[in-house]
Amino acid sequence: MAKCTELSKDNIEEALIGLDTVLTDCDGVLWNGPDVIPGAVEAIRKLRKRNKKVYFVTNNSTRTRDEYAEKLTKLGFEAGREDIICSAYVTAQYIRHQLGIRGKIFVVGSYGLQKELNNAGFDTSPIGPDPLQDSSCDWTDMPLDPDITAVVVGFDPHFSYAKMVRTCGHLSKTQIPLIATNDDPALPAKNDRIVPGTGAILHAIEVGSGRKAFVCGKPYEPILKVIIERKNVDPSKALVIGDRLETDIAMANLSNMNSLLVLSGCAALDDVYQLQSSVDAKDKGLLPSFYIKSLSSLNALLP
Ligand code: PLP
Ligand code: CA
Repeated sequence: MAKCTELSKDNIEEALIGLDTVLTDCDGVLWNGPDVIPGAVEAIRKLRKRNKKVYFVTNNSTRTRDEYAEKLTKLGFEAGREDIICSAYVTAQYIRHQLGIRGKIFVVGSYGLQKELNNAGFDTSPIGPDPLQDSSCDWTDMPLDPDITAVVVGFDPHFSYAKMVRTCGHLSKTQIPLIATNDDPALPAKNDRIVPGTGAILHAIEVGSGRKAFVCGKPYEPILKVIIERKNVDPSKALVIGDRLETDIAMANLSNMNSLLVLSGCAALDDVYQLQSSVDAKDKGLLPSFYIKSLSSLNALLP
């Protein structure tokens, strides 16, 4: 039976041997909301001291790579633009280099996504509230931009019915592709609250348009392509550290990377036990190699 083992002083050296790269998730691993997880800065520093190249890999599409580098450095992690693999960047690169699309993109998203698309050479529609969202306009006759060549969906706090109508209007043209930064169903939240994420916005658009999006973030192929082909990461020598089974751990398993689940974010130990006892082969793809309470515990294990 597949097994997930707790990382401890007895197995840590064996677990790290032969690894040259650490791909760490951000929210839930390095910080929770505004708070840095205690010991996280020190744990990353110790991994680097052991010659592990560290990349910061996030599905959050609201910031650019530069903004992540700035946030991480401010928090003490020391990171430059090239150390960041964020879903907004991956999406922009994928559309330009893999799909070969040019022109103007209709963006359902925030500033970080718009900026990464602009950096990749795309013109973009304005972000923010839809200009018609508070009007009682004729939904069947909403003005559309004839220059749009693709629709990209990320996290958009201004998502509205008007914006959905406009988005689906663009998607009525079958040659316009629907691409998403990520499909996380919910955002990390306090007090067991459910706060819908990009996946919820995306699903509304998919149902409304009858289309299925191509998704770029964890655990899908475009982000793996950036990791493996652009960053030259050898999957067999990489460790993914994450808090979400369906994104971080699934990505590791899909590409035969090693994985470490931290219990400081989304997933709980019960989730691991459930996966371990499941007979569904799909569940095995979500099972991490190791788990640990948090990066604080990892810091304590590393001399
Ligand atoms: N998307 C949004 C909008 C978020 O705020 C977050 C976490 O804060 C995520 C996705 C998940 O990010 P990560 O992959 O770093 O856990
Ligand atoms: Ca996370």
